[in-house]
Order: sequence, then C-alpha cells, then structure tokens
Amino acid sequence: MSQRVALRNVTKRFGSVVALKTISLDIEEGEFITLLGPSGCGKTTTLRLIAGFNDPDQGQILLGDQDITNLPPQKREIGMVFQDYALFPHLTIKENIAFPLRERRTPKEKINDRVVELLELVRLPGVEERYPSELSGGQAQRISVARAVAYPPRVLLMDEPLGALDLKLREAMQLELRRIQQELQITTVFVTHDQTEAMNMSDRIAVMRNGEIEQVGTARDIYNFPQSSFVADFVGRINLLDAELLGESEGIAELRILNDVNIRAKIATEVQSKSLCVGIRPEKLAIGRSGHKDRYDNQIPGKVISSTFSGNLLDIFVDVGADKPFLVEQRPDQVPLEINTPVDVCWNAQDALVLSAE
Ligand code: ATP
Repeated sequence: MSQRVALRNVTKRFGSVVALKTISLDIEEGEFITLLGPSGCGKTTTLRLIAGFNDPDQGQILLGDQDITNLPPQKREIGMVFQDYALFPHLTIKENIAFPLRERRTPKEKINDRVVELLELVRLPGVEERYPSELSGGQAQRISVARAVAYPPRVLLMDEPLGALDLKLREAMQLELRRIQQELQITTVFVTHDQTEAMNMSDRIAVMRNGEIEQVGTARDIYNFPQSSFVADFVGRINLLDAELLGESEGIAELRILNDVNIRAKIATEVQSKSLCVGIRPEKLAIGRSGHKDRYDNQIPGKVISSTFSGNLLDIFVDVGADKPFLVEQRPDQVPLEINTPVDVCWNAQDALVLSAE
C-alpha cells in the first residue's frame, strides 16, 4: 500500500514570494525522509503540495505511478500529522481514531477491532473513552499518528510533530515514531528544523534553503561530505574560514587562510563556486599549549577565550584571528585550559573540508 513519491520540477509562489524555486525529489517506497532547513525555506509548502492543500504553479507530483498533481486532497489517501495534534476535542479518543474509518464506511465491528489494534501500535491501550484534553502532549501525538494511519494511507506526512514537546519527551517520541513507521513500513515525509531530530530518525535528509533542496543524503553523508558551507553549518557544528586556493594535488588542496597561513585540506566533493572556505568539525581539532609537540598537518596559533562544560563535552573557544572564535570539542575529563592561555589549534588535512562559501 505504501508508495513512492516523486516531485518533478515543482515550483510555488505566493504572490511575490517564491516559496519553492524548482525542486525535484524522489522518495522511495517505505522510506523515511526528512525535509530539514531554517524557517521559511519551504518545508511546509513542500508537504502541503504533496498533501494537495496547495497546488504547484508548475511541475508534477507522483504517488506510485499515479500523477496526483491535480487530484483533490481527500482522494490522495495521505495521512497527515500536525504539530498541534489537531484532534477533535469534542470526540473521544476512539471516535477520533475511528473518524477516517467512518468516513470510508468501514463496518462497525471492523472499526472497533482496528481502534484496539491501533492503540496497541501506539502503545496506549485502554484510553478509548478519554477525551483529548485528558491526554498529555506525547499521548495526544501518538493518537494523532494512530488516526493518520487508521485507514492505511499511501504516504504519511508529518509537519514538526514533536515541536510542542519538551526535550526528553521529544527524544522518546523520535524513537517511538520511527518504530511505528518501520512497523508499518510506510513512506514518510517528516518536516523539522532540528538537525539532531533529522539525524536520529531519517533514512535520508533533504536539506532545504531559500526554496531549494541544497543536498539530499543519509545523515552520515551529509555530516561527512556536506556540499556547501551552508549544509555543513546547518547539520552539526563546524568551524568555517574563508580560504584562497593556491593549488591541489591528489585530492588535497593547498589553501591560504587568515591572510598569511597556508594549510592543506581534503577535497571531498566537487566545488564549483569561486569563493571557497575550509571547514573543520570541532571534534577533529586538537589543542595544546603553544609549542606542544604533536604532529599534525596544520597548526594555527590562538588564545583561549572561554570553555564550557556540558557533561559529556568540554567546548573550548579559541580566538585564532578569524571573525568567529574556533570551537574545539574535548573530552570532559581533560584539564580545562585557562582563559588567555596561548595555544596551538591543530588538525590533519584529511579532517578539513574544502567547501563553497555561499
Ligand atoms: P517554518 O519552519 O517557519 O514553518 P518553512 O520552511 O516550513 O518554515 P514555508 O512555510 O514553506 O517555510 O514558507 C516558505 C515561504 O513561503 C516563506 O517565505 C513563507 O512566508 C511563504 N508562505 C508560505 N505560505 C504562504 C501563504 N499562504 N501566503 C504567503 N506566503 C506564504
């Protein structure tokens, strides 16, 4: 029942606002894909076009082999989950879940069995007679998922479904939603602006920016091989420095940073842009007092500005003469370096990425 979804050269404007430039995306059958990006980049618009709540100005939307571009939403057989749950407050939980089944004239006995089955699926057996106001946020969201999949949809769309929950519950619900999705093997398009959530849950992530899809890939691909400084910065933490290309050999670039420092960095992805930067993840950096003897390909001097302890990590901020301080991640049991300590920040060429700057 679950089906693949394809967007082909889809564009959408709202008056003078271009919400989606031209996007194409293929979502596999049974895949969990997340649209990730900052506010206003077009995530919800993409979801609403798939659901049929808005029509594209151009392009095609396919569900399985069917062109659904002009099909009204109620004929698309799509399940939708919203941040605010959108449960009917005057109906019991049973009536809420049964709603889409009644609309499709499912026989009464079948509805009863299906409600029991769905409450087991979302691990909330026995709440049939309660009202939505008698549930916690996490419970209400489970019920809205149960309702969305009650009449098995061809695809499940979720728009920031965990946005209203506190962090601990949010993390628990990430696992729960993923379990339900895998149990049902349902093609799912999930929207979030939270990169950790996207990485925890998705088979693949589509990173969006200004109405375009900038990169699609697994969490690992996107983290290790970002195609732009925007993606590198949005997914995970990274130190970025403007860089001038001096030369390259065997996949390693020779670059100049901070006006007069020459460094080497890996060319992991094709970079077309003329303005370049080099990116180094904070966990790839080593730090030592000035003049320490470690052997690394690159080394720049700096001064410790501050350090923060967050339980599992020690974040050290170092002024290296760039616009922003360098962030170095260390294990929390390291002795913290005092503020103003002169240090060297070091890394290997293999751990630095050459990226397009815009
Ligand atoms: P958020 O994370 O804040 O929800 P988003 O990535 O989901 O953002 P969209 O809601 O898709 O972004 O909006 C994309 C752009 O289209 C924004 O500039 C937004 O202001 C605009 N937009 C969306 N819906 C409408 C509308 N109905 N009328 C006018 N402009 C709209």
